[in-house]
Amino acid sequence: MVDLPPIRDVIQRHNLAASKALGQNFLLDEQLLARIAALPGDLSGTQVLEVGPGPGGLTRALLRAGARVTAIEMDRRCLPALAELGESFPGQLTVIEGDALKMDHGALMQGEPFHVASNLPYNVGTALFVRWLGGEGWPPLWQSLTLMFQREVADRIVADAGDDAYGRLAVLAQWRAEARLAMKVHRSAFTPAPKVMSAVVHVTPSPMPEGVSARMLERLTEAAFGQRRKMLRQSLKGVPGALEALAALGIDETRRAETVSVAEFVALAHALTR
Ligand code: SAM
Repeated sequence: MVDLPPIRDVIQRHNLAASKALGQNFLLDEQLLARIAALPGDLSGTQVLEVGPGPGGLTRALLRAGARVTAIEMDRRCLPALAELGESFPGQLTVIEGDALKMDHGALMQGEPFHVASNLPYNVGTALFVRWLGGEGWPPLWQSLTLMFQREVADRIVADAGDDAYGRLAVLAQWRAEARLAMKVHRSAFTPAPKVMSAVVHVTPSPMPEGVSARMLERLTEAAFGQRRKMLRQSLKGVPGALEALAALGIDETRRAETVSVAEFVALAHALTR
């Protein structure tokens, strides 16, 4: 195994005091990082997109697993530490400076399949997650997503109908993908420790149900969960044909969105997709 200095030393030597504005909470425990990097399965020779490598803790675990990593980092202070890491894994690491929210990831990966592994600030992580899971093109170029989230967000992603956490994020993550909570991570694993607990979610694409447009499904969930306490006959009033489709499918219009399963949303979207 390539011998590397402890991440704590890298942070000190490169003066990488964590920036609150950039949502920086670093992971230093190499065993934990290796376990996260193992979640997608055997990565040797595969392409991995990592957003927010910071000082490179998860990056080194991915490189050690044999991945070819493309890493997007916004904080240019981290670039020298990442360049140093790249020297230990010749030809395996490409670092791109900039805001991942403003980049076309498929183009960046040159249209080749890739895995995504990331420990991101909450708002950036959720925005990218919604983008990776959206759109009409399916299957996506990404083969799996291994993402650290606040525990509360992870719960929303894997929730079932009827759970308190169930909502748009669960439907979006589950209607044509499998999402599981792969690992709970205590807040003390991060430096500095955030206020809340975290969890890693692992997502793989499934076949897309036939005859369903992603846009229609998104429109339905937006309307239904936009007024989640209201009955479907009220919340879906603005979606043409929705009330008739509810009746045709035998879904009681007095139910609320939080009780409607992913399969029922798919059936509704199917009935309304032209
Ligand atoms: N991956 C490292 C780890 O696990 O220790 C760092 C994680 S830290 C929570 C998040 C990283 O994402 C920081 O290095 C931060 O600079 C970077 N970041 C924040 N917003 C970003 C964005 N929009 N695009 C790219 N990187 C971003």
